[in-house]
Amino acid sequence: MQENNYLVHVHDVVKNFQGPAGIINVLRSVNLGVRPGEFVGVRGPSGSGKSTLINMITGIDRPTSGAVRVAGEPIEKMSENQLARFRGKNIGVIFQFFQLLPTLTVLENVILPMDFCRMWKTKERPERAMNLLDQVGLADQAHKLPNTLSGGQQQRAAIARALANDPPLLMADEPTGNLDSKTADKVFTLFEELIGQGKTFIMVTHDVELAKRIPRVIEVYDGVLYENGNMIQ
Ligand code: ADP
Ligand code: MG
Repeated sequence: MQENNYLVHVHDVVKNFQGPAGIINVLRSVNLGVRPGEFVGVRGPSGSGKSTLINMITGIDRPTSGAVRVAGEPIEKMSENQLARFRGKNIGVIFQFFQLLPTLTVLENVILPMDFCRMWKTKERPERAMNLLDQVGLADQAHKLPNTLSGGQQQRAAIARALANDPPLLMADEPTGNLDSKTADKVFTLFEELIGQGKTFIMVTHDVELAKRIPRVIEVYDGVLYENGNMIQ
């Protein structure tokens, strides 16, 4: 496999945590390559290591050993500052509980990552944020505070925020876990549209029905990755 072809390359990643009774081996030398434009689902029982795997790729946490490349860049070697900048431009992260800033309007929440990365001129940012909110069907909610929106609307706002700097990669950890099935379906359809626009997307989901619509599904069992029933070496 050509490493160069991967947007995301997880190589021999081990992650240990210190537990009360000693070291817990949460990721057992895992490997994963994701190519540009792929839609990858991650499934597995609670506690199997899904969030830990996602956190290795976003740089929210660091591997005990092994390497993580995103767009060819070594995530595990970056300082916190470098990581924040790199993530801002390259990885849109979507959380289960949205994590919008409660004192900012929806529009301001979407502008914030643009202010951080400065890829667009200051005066262009509000219009770009409005366009993104329009894309997720929230233009009419732009000037409201997040907690006045429904859960589904808040997650769509968080998706618009994740798109702020037009990152090639989107990562989501159970993004529909806090939504009813109809709302989850709408949010998932938005993800499919983003794949159609050329984004690469890695998503943890517990939802069996949604997982059936994901073209490539990785399963995590006890810190080991499987694809189509075979351990990924
Ligand atoms: P999942 O997302 O699949 O439910 P996680 O990746 O969150 O699982 O956790 C996998 C295992 O690692 C669990 O046993 C969890 O308790 C443990 N774990 C996760 N984060 C930490 C941490 N910061 N410190 C200690 N143990 C952790
Ligand atoms: Mg988890």
